[in-house]
Amino acid sequence: MKLPFVRFLLVMACPGAMAYAAGDNLTRVEPLPTPSLKWQNLALPPGKPRFPLTDRVWPATSGEATVCLWEDDKLAAISLTIDDNEAQDVPFWLALAQKHDVKLTWFLVTGGIGKKDSGLAGTWELWKQVKAQGHSLQSHTVTHLGGMRSPDWKGIAWEYAESPRTLDEMLPGQRTRALAYPGTGDERQKANSKDVAAGQYAAARGVQGYLNQANKIAYMAVNCCFSINLGDSEKSPWNDITLIINPDSTKPYQKTYYRGWCVLGFHHLDNKPGATTTHTPANVTRLFDWITANRQDLWPAPFLDAALYGQERDTATVKTLRADEQRISLMLTSEMDPKRFDYPLTVKIRLPSRWETVRASQAGGAIPAERITHAGIPFALVKAKPDCGPIDLTPANP
Ligand SMILES: [Zn+2]
Repeated sequence: MKLPFVRFLLVMACPGAMAYAAGDNLTRVEPLPTPSLKWQNLALPPGKPRFPLTDRVWPATSGEATVCLWEDDKLAAISLTIDDNEAQDVPFWLALAQKHDVKLTWFLVTGGIGKKDSGLAGTWELWKQVKAQGHSLQSHTVTHLGGMRSPDWKGIAWEYAESPRTLDEMLPGQRTRALAYPGTGDERQKANSKDVAAGQYAAARGVQGYLNQANKIAYMAVNCCFSINLGDSEKSPWNDITLIINPDSTKPYQKTYYRGWCVLGFHHLDNKPGATTTHTPANVTRLFDWITANRQDLWPAPFLDAALYGQERDTATVKTLRADEQRISLMLTSEMDPKRFDYPLTVKIRLPSRWETVRASQAGGAIPAERITHAGIPFALVKAKPDCGPIDLTPANP
């Protein structure tokens, strides 16, 4: 009775698995992913690195596969996140994001949205438009924990659960899975609970002002920098954003941030004369220019996408089941629950030297595949979801 149940779960999690599970490929003998308990998040911060950090990896033999550290085999990831709604700044952010083709994340306090006299909170119409442009809207609780001063406050679990419930109800196609803890430096900060958040979310953003080392990410307290330092601030060398793509930094502790994940946090834009933060429109514009200038090395990812990718990658296994001149077949699994962790990983596969083109499918459905070369040798970058069935590569015109 075990196998049909697993197949049912697989089909529910991965629409692409339908054809496979439904029997289109009955001659297949590859095993389905082993049934096991899957993680809802990697809540425990790692005591030691989860894997050795390397530069880009180039598999040595034809058919060999590796999961890329970040999407599209980029060196590093960067996420721009905006807290507390700050609806008055939305047009500024949308214009820059569109110009630079970068998707942003708003962590929304849901309690005031659409209410009378709540200009900064915005309206549901506004947030629907933001979402329709491909940006990510996640939870910053219901009241920003301002409500905890009232005797009627319903508690931290309610703050964490009610906000995503409202977002999912009000925004079409929404599935809220990330939190930014609200409140710093007062009793609200103490009221936050990583354990309660871990019962609800795939990832949560903390307020520690550091970059994230790629192999030591604390997914329930992701570090976040609240100032823009493009290598030009002597005051805070630890949050120099450029370290994530710089293999040559001279200070040992800074080297550990190479290939890391930079999460930046913003509130309102500081656009009055005599600005006291780095969040001026001019500085934010410089930041976008820097992202675009380094786009070949950077994945500008919504917070949730990078958090899903990271946890799938940290627990992923990719196996080559077959590799010859006609076909390469792989199985990609991870220890994360595929119903929640459904972001495709980029897998790099060394191709037979005669393959001048490549086509890829997973469980019978086409998936993105790009052929690249390195030192004259062809490789494929394929985007596939863990635990969603076998991946097949063929030369597009065999
Ligand atoms: Zn806040």
